[in-house]
Amino acid sequence: MKVKLILPSLTEAKTAYWRPIKYSLFPPLGLATLAAYLDENDEIDLQDQHVEKLNLIDSPDLVLIEVYITNAKRAYSIAEQYRSRGIFVALGGLHVTSLPEEAEKYADTIFLGPAEQTFPEFLSDFKLKKIKRRYVSIAGRTIQNQPPIRRDLIKRDKYLVPNSLVISRGCPHHCDFCYKDAFFKNGKSFYTQKVDEILLEISRLKGRHLYFLDDHLLGNPKLAAELFDGMRGMNQVFQGAATVKSILEGNLIEKAAEAGLRSLFVGFETFSPKNLQQSNKSQNLKLDYEKATRKLHDLGIMINGSFVFGLDDDDKDVFKRTVDWGIENAITTATYHILTPYPGTRLFEQMEKERRIVTHDWDLYDTRHVVYKTRSLTSSELENGYWRAYKEFYKWSNVIKASFSHDQLKHQMKHLVYTGGWKKFEGLWNFIINAGGLKTMLPLLELLLSKVDYKTDQTKDAIINNLNETDIELTA
Ligand code: SF4
Repeated sequence: MKVKLILPSLTEAKTAYWRPIKYSLFPPLGLATLAAYLDENDEIDLQDQHVEKLNLIDSPDLVLIEVYITNAKRAYSIAEQYRSRGIFVALGGLHVTSLPEEAEKYADTIFLGPAEQTFPEFLSDFKLKKIKRRYVSIAGRTIQNQPPIRRDLIKRDKYLVPNSLVISRGCPHHCDFCYKDAFFKNGKSFYTQKVDEILLEISRLKGRHLYFLDDHLLGNPKLAAELFDGMRGMNQVFQGAATVKSILEGNLIEKAAEAGLRSLFVGFETFSPKNLQQSNKSQNLKLDYEKATRKLHDLGIMINGSFVFGLDDDDKDVFKRTVDWGIENAITTATYHILTPYPGTRLFEQMEKERRIVTHDWDLYDTRHVVYKTRSLTSSELENGYWRAYKEFYKWSNVIKASFSHDQLKHQMKHLVYTGGWKKFEGLWNFIINAGGLKTMLPLLELLLSKVDYKTDQTKDAIINNLNETDIELTA
């Protein structure tokens, strides 16, 4: 059987917002995971439109397309092209699960929720030609004892971070604006692999650098502790995501640092307790964000802080406050979002009820546009403030100021190079991508994520003392 797996690119791929490097980071792991259930004799073609031109003139027996909200139009158009030639098309992913009635107009069958359990059932139905219109994930969700991801289908050279992996599904929390609960409804919403399986997967990957794409890498503390213990001595460096609460509690983050954690995506989202309550993000309430950033810095872990603008308690000063806080607390990179009520979430339902949703054009649900009636800010204040925040945070003077807030010289340099490299050399990244040179950048990334060694690294004070001593010797 010939099978085509497609990840269509997001709307922004043909707009001024397009940054090739941003979408050349991670390979399409979800599709490679499903490919593992196909027969080894099947002819499989996995294409990711973010990094290659799609070939749509082939004639596979089955096309499977992953749909996000801002690639939905493109996904539907690709589906129509294949279906017009009588080729069977299946759609799955976050957006399909949120809006099945919309998606099934463009598909022969759809997958709702995570597809690990329903895909094998679909494949046997497909062979028997007894296919259902919908495959809904309900019971028996697990990612343990699954066949290994078909990494051989991934074009490693096209990605900066080919060694990405996901060791869990979902997250133990329930924020109202998050897709998670909508995607995992009707069953478990947080479950993990076994430690020995994860360690085996890591040992199969080439190179030192790993990126855990889990929503919350520390979400299961017991598993995380065992994993980090198991990783000690493996000489890996890795990045991941976790909550403020998990950083502050116990010594899990120390274990992670010992195992090689060098940068962490942290969902700070907002400083306002009212906003946190509005979002049901109670796990952040009354937490000391500054203590969390200090703890990460002391462990030599760089921070990518995530912040949301536009919650009802936000005022005109929220942008400056948030940017200043990030610089003062030496956040390495900041990701700002305009609040986006994704269909299927409690936030969307609430706003629909209050008649606050102003458009159903999903292309605008990209966290850069205001798609709902705002309260304390006008819509243009919110959009302008969002863009201003990015501009201010990534101004060279602010990047330098934030970098030099660290005590360790090595940490200062890492911060400067990492932030500058990520945001300031777009032309160079484009050149590297076009020249097919992304794979040569991985060793540099590994070097950049090497450990800040407190014993041998000179602190700012030590450098100043040394300079002073030299001065004294010279003048004596
Ligand atoms: S903590 Fe993050 S992943 Fe978990 S529900 Fe909240 S926003 Fe979603």
